[in-house]
Amino acid sequence: MKTVDSINFSNKRALIRVDFNVPLNDKFEVTDETRIKAAIPTLKKILKDGGSIVLMSHLGRPKEGPTNKYSLKHIVANVSKLLGTEVQFAEDCIGADAFSRSAALKNGQVLLLENLRFYKEEEKGDESFAEKLSKHGNVYVNDAFGTAHRAHASTAVIAKFFKADAKCFGYVMAGEVESINKVLNNAEKPFTAIIGGAKVSDKIMIIEQLMNKANNILIGGGMAFTFVKAMGGQIGKSLCEDDRLDVAKQLLEKAKVKGVNIYIPTDAVIADNFANDANKKECKINEIPEGWMGLDAGPETVKMNNDVIKNSKTILWNGPMGVFEMSSFENGTKQAALAIVEATKNGAYSLIGGGDSVAAINKYSLADKVSYVSTGGGALLEYIEQGSLPGVKAIEG
Ligand code: AMP
Repeated sequence: MKTVDSINFSNKRALIRVDFNVPLNDKFEVTDETRIKAAIPTLKKILKDGGSIVLMSHLGRPKEGPTNKYSLKHIVANVSKLLGTEVQFAEDCIGADAFSRSAALKNGQVLLLENLRFYKEEEKGDESFAEKLSKHGNVYVNDAFGTAHRAHASTAVIAKFFKADAKCFGYVMAGEVESINKVLNNAEKPFTAIIGGAKVSDKIMIIEQLMNKANNILIGGGMAFTFVKAMGGQIGKSLCEDDRLDVAKQLLEKAKVKGVNIYIPTDAVIADNFANDANKKECKINEIPEGWMGLDAGPETVKMNNDVIKNSKTILWNGPMGVFEMSSFENGTKQAALAIVEATKNGAYSLIGGGDSVAAINKYSLADKVSYVSTGGGALLEYIEQGSLPGVKAIEG
């Protein structure tokens, strides 16, 4: 993968697509700087070479053009502080002022453009918008893994306006892609994929793809009950997608043919209500009484999951094993996280990706005890499904 390390940015103006889509509170203060921090090494490399930088990003989902709530001006101070360099701001990403500012940049200077999504052309992947944006720099760097699964103007279309030797990936992109490739194409066996969360329908394609790669697939969370019902179990009022029962059955049959071990939970912690203070008890996964729902993995399942995880050399985790947001139903998720940490300590490679499993690993302060935590949930899942991403293909050709 061609990264910023392959280019000397001296006297060059790098146009960098970053993912500065950070959360803001009602005073427009940044409440989590993770994504800005992640981009800093790429920016520092370019400045150290003696280049200048034009940053472009989206923020939120503005519907009707420029909106104060979604202005990137709110984050300028954060970027300046983390980079240790003053950052200028252009109030319109393709306005005359923006172009005169980018043209006037001296080596070592940094300019942040206003939210790209103030133009609907961005998400439409409009060519002439992409071409206009491309005039801001003479090297294009894509470091926005979080949006690399979108064929938007700034994430993919723009790459065609730069020659092959004037476009590359930043360190965030390179790290993410390297990590997924290690898991999908270079996995040391046994490779275990842990797939949880609420909906089977969201994960069918991923499970199918993983059947070609993994030795073990642990199914957990709400989506497990569609499998349990498909196998004839009683699941009470647990989450279930009745229109996916056949698909669930087919997945189980395919796994058998392919020789992949699919582990469905064998017991559950059930509750009479979707609430932290609900009455709860343990029962077999396929004998859940009417009026009760499974909200967490039972002790037998936790042990089964732990044994598989701890014997793995490569682990991919997407989706919680229960309603981990509620302390009464977090055990299955927490134990899975701890087992992954232990396996990692013993030499396994572990990749955690997808919004809720990342939230879980952070909740238990274990992010630095696994091999890699992906910053782009949707992009990671799409990479697994498709084998590549528009934002990656655009540069690699
Ligand atoms: P997803 O976005 O599909 O990965 O789903 C994540 C959500 O699934 C989390 O908010 C969990 O609380 C929820 N979840 C996990 N297990 C269950 C369950 N057994 N019943 C209902 N929701 C669940």
